[in-house]
Amino acid sequence: MPTENALKNRSNNSCEFCAAKDNLTVYSVPPTSDLSAQQSIYLCQTCVKQVEGEQQLDVNHWRCLTDSMWNQEPAVQVMSYRMLHKLSTESWAQDALEMIYLEDDVRTWAEQGIAAEQSNGPTRDSNGAELHDGDNVTLIKDLKVKGANFTAKQGTMVRGIALTDNPEHIEGKVNGTRIVLA
Ligand SMILES: [Zn+2]
Repeated sequence: MPTENALKNRSNNSCEFCAAKDNLTVYSVPPTSDLSAQQSIYLCQTCVKQVEGEQQLDVNHWRCLTDSMWNQEPAVQVMSYRMLHKLSTESWAQDALEMIYLEDDVRTWAEQGIAAEQSNGPTRDSNGAELHDGDNVTLIKDLKVKGANFTAKQGTMVRGIALTDNPEHIEGKVNGTRIVLA
């Protein structure tokens, strides 16, 4: 696999975050990657699992970012920046974010990924406005109401919505019936 070979050479066969030598794997930098070496980094399992959120962040492990952020490769800089951002409650990570140097286009790339992650955070309406408990919303299309025997028509006002844990679902009242909108 050409990308992996290029990354092996580039990284001297070590994790580009923490320099571990074992179980290295190619990580393609989201949100869009052409799978080239320029848009990938070489990571150990410890790093990749935490980057992908499979394992909780072990704060002390990520002190390695204060070295990797100076890596010459934009892809490594981008991921170092994003990880520092995730750890920005730590004062050392704050300091690093203030010191990190990114070219303008690299900074844009780094921030794209952060914006993409945040977009599945708060619940938003069809115009992108953030919704809060107690808001009234108007349906933009007919909705079959799950578990009830009617369809809520487009233009129906749903009053006093309640957000759920899932940003895709809200609850509200139509015709006095409590419904879940998905
Ligand atoms: Zn690592």
